[in-house]
Amino acid sequence: MGSVGLRGREHARAWRDMRVTKTSLSTTRTVAVLGATGSVGGSTLDVIARHPDRLRLGAVAARSNWDKLRDICVRFQPKLAAVLDADAALQLERALRASGSRTEVMSGAAGLAAVATFAQADTVLAAIVGAAGLRPTIAAAAMGKRILLANKEALVVGGEIFMAAAATGGASVLPIDSEHNAIFQCLPPRYARNPRAFGVRRLLLTASGGPFRNRGAEELVAVTPEEACSHPNWVMGPKISVDSATMMNKGLEVIEAHRLFGVDDCDIDVVIHPQSIVHSLVEYVDGSVLAQLGHPDMRTPIAQALAYPDRIDAGVPSFDLTARGPLQFEAVDAKRFPCVRLAYDALRAGDYATVALNAANEVAVAAFLERRIAFTDIARTLSAVLDALSPVALSSIEDAMQCDERTRRETRAILRLGAG
Ligand code: NAD
Ligand code: MG
Repeated sequence: MGSVGLRGREHARAWRDMRVTKTSLSTTRTVAVLGATGSVGGSTLDVIARHPDRLRLGAVAARSNWDKLRDICVRFQPKLAAVLDADAALQLERALRASGSRTEVMSGAAGLAAVATFAQADTVLAAIVGAAGLRPTIAAAAMGKRILLANKEALVVGGEIFMAAAATGGASVLPIDSEHNAIFQCLPPRYARNPRAFGVRRLLLTASGGPFRNRGAEELVAVTPEEACSHPNWVMGPKISVDSATMMNKGLEVIEAHRLFGVDDCDIDVVIHPQSIVHSLVEYVDGSVLAQLGHPDMRTPIAQALAYPDRIDAGVPSFDLTARGPLQFEAVDAKRFPCVRLAYDALRAGDYATVALNAANEVAVAAFLERRIAFTDIARTLSAVLDALSPVALSSIEDAMQCDERTRRETRAILRLGAG
């Protein structure tokens, strides 16, 4: 995929498009939400509901949770709702007709694509979990939408091809993953994926350390999905909660930061910060270190990106530094949390390795959530998959998706899970 990376003017354009908004908030923005029934989707709807004069929900999509989608449709009256699952779409259609709602219902991949490219929406919130979000997000990119990206796996799998598709389509990509949104806010306004030209020395991603930060290695073998999903600071969907517990979430975020900001892996560092108040930092060559702070509440980065370059109320209470107590920072323990290093290894190996790492992780996390493997099997499996990889050139999204599917099959075989 390196051969199709952005070059020169394209680099500058990708970033310029990332920063320049086509509409200001003095006009109403219409938003399409992919993954509307999830945790990020819910926070997004909360922010939209606070600004009926400035933000409108145009279209929504989810996998199968039709009754939650029905409630959303009845409340916000979007023009279009898509459900991946065909039976759930039928249920939704029936329920909406019974309630007198005029929201059009679609299903399958075509439905997701229709939401991603919904003509009246200028903004697409990409909050599907996993590589499943890649195709709709690419479709939004091709249509030149403002993409508010939560779905980090789409960027990990889509790589430079995704960034190039955004540049070609005239799309802007605004990160709402809290760390990347923090970095976005700490970078200069005209930053163009070229750290040297802007005096950026390195990026520092903070990590809470997850629920097992203080557990001994031997204790990790027996942890349950329930324990892994009880994050100390954030309420999130099950997959990212497990990723936070293994710290693969931070590994994926290192790859995400590399792709978004054009910073080499050796200039991206991770530091544990258990309070999740400092969301990330940018260090400049003059020694200045800029950080973005706030409550751990996804409504802040979501509102920042929805309104950018304006600012709107996110419903987040005022921040009291004196009430927070000391802020701690410590190094990652690579022995207990090997997933961070695996992500750096994959990034150095090439795009095929980051695709494979993500695919293997999705399979392993699902197996752990189904209690088919132990928590510590997740990192062990990823390590085995990366060790067995042979380099392959990826020059299209199809290539990336094939690599993803092949790795899923191989991971299931390693874990003896049978075809998934
Ligand atoms: P979640 O599990 O709560 O919600 C996932 C959403 O995606 C649901 O609406 C679900 O219906 C939909 N979905 C799942 N598979 C789908 C498919 N195949 N097709 C269509 N829709 C599908 O997850 P979440 O915690 O909201 O996370 C969403 C994304 O945002 C993830 O990529 C995650 O890494 C990222 N993210 C989440 C948070 C957070 O605080 N939750 C923070 C930063 C980044
Ligand atoms: Mg994050």
